[in-house]
Amino acid sequence: MSTMPEHTTIASSALETLKQSEGFFRALIENSADAIALMTPEGIFLYLSPPAKKILGYSPEELVGHSGFDLLPADQRALAMQQFSKIAQNPGIRQIKEHQYVHKDGSIRWMESTTTNLLDTPYVQAIVVNFHDISDRKQIEEQLRVSEQIAQRQVKESHDQLSAILKNAADGIMVQDNTGRMIYANQAAAQVTGYNTVEELLQAPLLEYQEKFSLTNEYGQPLPPTQFPGRRAIQGEENPQITANYIDKNTNTKRWLVIKSTAIRDIQNQPYMVINTIQDITRLKELEQRKDDFISIASHELKTPITSIKGFTQLLQHRFKKNNDEASLLMLNKMERQLNKLSNLIGDLLDISKIQAGKISYHVEPFDLDTLVHEVVENLQGTTATHHLELESTTGLWVSGDKDRLEQVLINLLTNAIKYSPQANTIIIRAEVEQENVRVSVQDFGIGIAESHHQKIFERFYQVTDEEENPFPGLGIGLHISAEIVRRHQGKIWVESTKGYGSTFTFTLPLITPPSGEVAAPVQEHNLS
Ligand code: ADP
Repeated sequence: MSTMPEHTTIASSALETLKQSEGFFRALIENSADAIALMTPEGIFLYLSPPAKKILGYSPEELVGHSGFDLLPADQRALAMQQFSKIAQNPGIRQIKEHQYVHKDGSIRWMESTTTNLLDTPYVQAIVVNFHDISDRKQIEEQLRVSEQIAQRQVKESHDQLSAILKNAADGIMVQDNTGRMIYANQAAAQVTGYNTVEELLQAPLLEYQEKFSLTNEYGQPLPPTQFPGRRAIQGEENPQITANYIDKNTNTKRWLVIKSTAIRDIQNQPYMVINTIQDITRLKELEQRKDDFISIASHELKTPITSIKGFTQLLQHRFKKNNDEASLLMLNKMERQLNKLSNLIGDLLDISKIQAGKISYHVEPFDLDTLVHEVVENLQGTTATHHLELESTTGLWVSGDKDRLEQVLINLLTNAIKYSPQANTIIIRAEVEQENVRVSVQDFGIGIAESHHQKIFERFYQVTDEEENPFPGLGIGLHISAEIVRRHQGKIWVESTKGYGSTFTFTLPLITPPSGEVAAPVQEHNLS
């Protein structure tokens, strides 16, 4: 058996390895998604790998010997040639590029090509171009770009629309960051805060702006910055609002403003911005003041003649009694009842004016609550034949306050209970102790009040004007006066009611230790605040 020399064996196995590895690389190249082209320095195809057909539409045979620039759109050829010749002059250089090409079917498509100068590399000696089609990616990119443009345009348009609306809004709008720095304001905001232009307001240092004005509440008391709604919104209060008198310290001009604030929160729910709207209600307040002045003058003017008519009525009553003129006496009594109604109404109107001017004075003294409740219930029972007033519980306790004013509250609640329960016949009165307070409640089984009105009925001149309630006469001020009296006694008043099922009005008063013996503490006269 002949044996091959050792070196021959090694050479043939190296050749075998080489052949194998050539096959391996060929298979790689031919099956790759990328195509490879070898080109001359002039851009002529020397070789194309089979995947080129899928990308370009042409088979390698159709292209070898032809210029690669023919595959480019005509307008891009000159630049491509320039760049290619630069690569051709610099061995080892590489350029990666995204560019268009013309497919065999005539469509313009996109490819990414990596061009490497391997002219100096033995066995290759060509310019090698790896390329693959990126038309799908480009299409998606293009769609994204277009939709981004559209979105940007829409954002800009709505931004422009919004700023046009805000700019021309009648209400002042100010936006502050969470440090209080002003980041947006419209013309109305600049005007209301005494600046000529929005720019002046925005450029004003925070301190200057804050020093420029002071705010007082409806009772003329100064409002500290901690009560400004912007601060409160930043601290987490939902949509705080104030009605305040804005006083420009430089010019001493005053305006009535309603300021509302809303905090804008980030995804961690932290407020980072606050929007303040400022409504100038100076004109409204002026009109309101004129109306209050009118009510005050009119009720004073009406009071004097009523007092003298009452005096004459009493004089006549004496005469008729003396003369035993029963028929005239009956008429006179009816007349007196109407007169009393009239003077109560005038009294209420006078009270309203006093409340507005902060001029109600109170005679504060300790008194026995039960006696007061008993008296009022008894007196009112005498005036109604339709309702039974049931005093269900008493406290046996004393309270401190203006007895007449608190009597007025109780009378108001009881007359309302009778008036607003025409189909029912029972009213329940309870006086109870609740921690440091006594609470007095009046329950009726009448028409009731829908929840949306529960707060508002305590406002001045507010009446529920549902269709069924039209027949009830009144001025809508009794509860407002009652609420004011209770508030001045450091108490609370509220209603619990369901429409159609009656109402329970309750007020509380702070409890005091009853004075020893029968002697009441000396009467003091002062303003409760
Ligand atoms: P007035 O009774 O003169 O209208 P008030 O201030 O006493 O004024 O009451 C305000 C409104 O509250 C009334 O107009 C009525 O709509 C409602 N209201 C008050 N008390 C009752 C009640 N007991 N039941 C139902 N509605 C009531």
